Amino acid sequence: MLKPGSTIGILGGGQLARMIALAAAPLGLKTHIFAPEAGSPAFDVATAHTQAAYDDLGALDRFAAAVDVVTYEFENVPVATAEHLAKLVPVHPGARALGITQDRLAEKNFIDGLGIAIAPFASVESEAELEQALAKIGRPAVLKTRRFGYDGKGQVMIREGDDASAAFAAIGRNPAVLEGFVPFLREVSVVAARSEDGRFAAYEVTENEHRHHILYRSTVPADVTPAVNAVAHEIARRIGEALGYVGVFAVELFLVVEEGAQGVVVNEIAPRVHNSGHWTLDGSETSQFEQHVRAVAGWPLGEVARRGRVEMTNLIGDEAGGWLELLEEPGAHLHLYGKAEARPGRKMGHVTRIFAED
Ligand code: AMP
Repeated sequence: MLKPGSTIGILGGGQLARMIALAAAPLGLKTHIFAPEAGSPAFDVATAHTQAAYDDLGALDRFAAAVDVVTYEFENVPVATAEHLAKLVPVHPGARALGITQDRLAEKNFIDGLGIAIAPFASVESEAELEQALAKIGRPAVLKTRRFGYDGKGQVMIREGDDASAAFAAIGRNPAVLEGFVPFLREVSVVAARSEDGRFAAYEVTENEHRHHILYRSTVPADVTPAVNAVAHEIARRIGEALGYVGVFAVELFLVVEEGAQGVVVNEIAPRVHNSGHWTLDGSETSQFEQHVRAVAGWPLGEVARRGRVEMTNLIGDEAGGWLELLEEPGAHLHLYGKAEARPGRKMGHVTRIFAED
């Protein structure tokens, strides 16, 4: 268990690391960001930072000596980096969670192995394997690279009549997974936390609306039955348990209707705080960022109760230009990530609005 005054090391310097660092400060904890990019948004708000490559062993050793625990803000941290650090300092979540979740095939096998509902899938490493996979799974299907896919990047739909070879070329002929298209009603997610001694807390299921493959808006409560909320929590609990997970994670789910009743199918696991949990900053008793800090510090988890009906809207690219109006809007909680350049598709900030329960 960390003492107040300890330092949390964070790999990655984007908005997620920034909001973790901002949540650590009021609890009397220091943060040290390790990221390769100059001007990383988290550098502005942390106690210290190191700008170095993830394979710079000298820099990693000095970082490990300066912190009491290490966590990360994104799943593409090289496993070798996490393993190297783990020899020197506790790393939460551990390298195993990282290894499984950064490879779509390993992740799907893991979820399937737990008996949790997931779209039918098959490994694809060649055009011949893609043809076999299409014969097995049928069309429409979605072809996704095993690694480094996010916000719809590294994936392509294969519909009736589409050329499979062109689809494989479109994802760079990289090792991939073909998965059956899920005719979902809505996309939802569950954000949960687990502590080292097995305590578990999950936020209410969040409903997520995407535009151009990027999360646009999250709302809570989601339009789901109480049974779906309970099932989603149980799925997260079992995944957290099986990974021996420490920290906050999200499970993205497709809401489906089976035999007249709502059910869920897992899309993917994010081993980190998640955009669909940003509403908790203003809309919950404990934000997902504080919860993550508590979990990796070995502290008790906080209350997850919701403070009303909550809506979180991302500010993408130019949308952040409306900051002055948002500041003037009663009840709007504005969060800007301090990014210098508003490129199209770039997450620049978000705004949370809390309404009285209907
Ligand atoms: P992902 O990067 O796996 O989260 O996928 C990005 C988005 O593509 C999801 O949020 C869905 O909107 C859509 N999508 C991905 N996989 C499927 C699938 N198997 N069936 C239907 N839609 C999907």
